[in-house]
Amino acid sequence: MRLTVLGRSPASPNPGEACAGYLVEAGGSRVVVDIGPGVVAQLVTRHHPDELDAVVISHMHADHMLDLVTLRYVYPWRALPAERRLRVVLPPGSADQMLDLAKGVGNARHFEDCFRLSEHDGTTPLAYGALSLQPIQTQHYIPCWGFRIEADGGRLAYTADTAPCSGLNDLADSADLILSEATLRSLDEDAAPPEPRGHLTPAEAGTAARDAGSLRLMLTHLPVNGDGAWARDQAAATFGDDVELAQPQRTYEI
Ligand SMILES: [Zn+2]
Ligand SMILES: [Zn+2]
Repeated sequence: MRLTVLGRSPASPNPGEACAGYLVEAGGSRVVVDIGPGVVAQLVTRHHPDELDAVVISHMHADHMLDLVTLRYVYPWRALPAERRLRVVLPPGSADQMLDLAKGVGNARHFEDCFRLSEHDGTTPLAYGALSLQPIQTQHYIPCWGFRIEADGGRLAYTADTAPCSGLNDLADSADLILSEATLRSLDEDAAPPEPRGHLTPAEAGTAARDAGSLRLMLTHLPVNGDGAWARDQAAATFGDDVELAQPQRTYEI
């Protein structure tokens, strides 16, 4: 299985970088997980969206899905035959938001003329050839699902956005690689009690990965200024081993 980082920015973009977007490939199957602002420009340096089996969205925050608007413009401005339309898999209960977004950008049919929109059910794995994506709900400000992605005997855990929670532990359980958000520079940046939390510090990402027995930890979805050594060092201290920082446009074997 191969993971290519198309974007690693949190909602506020790191200079020159796209927001959340990850290309996952195995055995000729190809899925993009999350497609935040800037991701399509990165994707098309490698693939036309016709070469994808699906685009899968973790949750409906703009930094994870807004480039669906841009993706539509890669196609000609007419309705595609149904069998040529790209599969776009949304979180449960989000179809109405897509209609609102389509109207907001000027055309209620903005998406449906070239995408096959559907929702996953929150529990059943999504299967695309060699790739299997198991959705697992995380704790975030809105409903959000990470994915346990398996292929070729390899296990990739993508946390999407999450606070420390049992879903994060289930995602990370014995993963070969956990691709973990680490959005917070400090706990002050998360919601304050009694509001529930929604993100991780790098140290919390390291703790979760260690406790779940993940073999490798890669941080993403974090503010990076310079080489991000602060985040890597913080996470390595709790993980107990070296920690990688997701690098834009780099491909990793799992
Ligand atoms: Zn979010
Ligand atoms: Zn996010």
